Amino acid sequence: MNAPTKTPKPLQDGGVMKQHLIDPEICIRCYTCEMTCPLGAIEHDDNNVVVDVTKCNFCMDCIPVCPTGSIDEWRVVEQPYSLDDQYSWTELPEQQEFAQAALAEDTADDPIAALLAEAHKGAGGKAKAPATAAKPTVNLHNLGKPATARVAGNFRLTGDPEHDVRHIILDFGAQPMPVLEGQSIGIIPPGLDADGKAHLPRLYSVSSPRDGERRGFNNLSLTVKREDKGLCSNYVCDLKIGDEVQVTGPFGATFLMPDDAQARMLMICTGTGSAPFRGFTMRKQRGGAAPGEMVMFFGARRPDSLPYFGPLNKVPDRLLKKHLVFSRIPGADKEYVQDRMMVEQDMIAEMLSDPRTHIYICGLRGMEQGVEEAFRNIAESIGLPWEATRDAMREDGRYHVETY
Ligand code: NAP
Repeated sequence: MNAPTKTPKPLQDGGVMKQHLIDPEICIRCYTCEMTCPLGAIEHDDNNVVVDVTKCNFCMDCIPVCPTGSIDEWRVVEQPYSLDDQYSWTELPEQQEFAQAALAEDTADDPIAALLAEAHKGAGGKAKAPATAAKPTVNLHNLGKPATARVAGNFRLTGDPEHDVRHIILDFGAQPMPVLEGQSIGIIPPGLDADGKAHLPRLYSVSSPRDGERRGFNNLSLTVKREDKGLCSNYVCDLKIGDEVQVTGPFGATFLMPDDAQARMLMICTGTGSAPFRGFTMRKQRGGAAPGEMVMFFGARRPDSLPYFGPLNKVPDRLLKKHLVFSRIPGADKEYVQDRMMVEQDMIAEMLSDPRTHIYICGLRGMEQGVEEAFRNIAESIGLPWEATRDAMREDGRYHVETY
């Protein structure tokens, strides 16, 4: 989206203004908003990513690119929060009461809200954690004081020579690194960038459960694909056992599992977007409680480029119903996750109408639209308006999207 030619007037009646803020609890410090902002209005310190009220013109370019919705915070204020205020936060301040009504205003009267509604189209939206999820620890190790992990394993997961995906195990020794399934950590690649500054961390989803890749050990795993010319992915994929790695995090406070044995989980992923679902599945496998239903739609190029193809196939159906779909099998039609969802539409329709169902979508940004379209077709076939159903699920902490 381009910056509007005319900046919407932030000042409202009574000398108050609408201020754009970032939720430090939910932000995963991927810095995508900062890299996207055309005005340099978004910046960070070791702790937080913040918005400079003197520079932000509400162009909304940062809204759709945020994978978590943490960017989507607004407060009506008499006195704007300074950068120092925002850097010191561990959570967002509540909206002050005097302006509750102003925030609830109709979009027709509020140019910022109207721009926001436009920016939300196609975006993941503002997520909420499942009501029963455990409380995550966030930003324990920051840029200024990262943890040092030691590499305990680096295994190639894929046979496809053009698709190198690695299972990396990091051990934290005596340093605390409490992660929940679905959270991410940052890895700081060594060296300096073109400006002579330390590289920013790159975010990777944790693919192990909360009690460790090896149960009871203070370690975790990542699922990392080597990207052509990728600075950090090549660094990580080349790590050797015993190497030390600088780690920030954990991050993420919404893409979490319900800690509820009755919850049903519908998980849709492509490629390495499967990482959090490995953690979810292992948590269920290790849990003593009766497992709620888990269904997975997982898209990859071919079986030998689908991470954890062998172990995944061994997970019994009673624990995880798997729909593995492939797009590049010679002689076969290309199949995407959304195509298989349509084949399985009766099952998905039944899940959509069950208030115990949680939906998780993770992987390529490009899949989001096709998956939404499949959901819309399925929901509308049983008389459920899709947008309203999705928004209600999101509000209820049952609809989660993390796409990059
Ligand atoms: P990939 O191998 O390139 O693609 C996986 C599969 O998705 C392929 O079969 C591909 O088909 C298919 N695909 C491509 N476009 C699609 C579309 N529009 N709709 C549905 N399926 C589509 O995947 P990858 O390289 O592992 O990439 C995974 C992505 O997940 C990365 O962008 C990564 O950043 C992201 N990721 C996100 C998280 C997270 O959100 N927490 C965690 C890990 C990874 P083709 O044959 O057409 O290519």
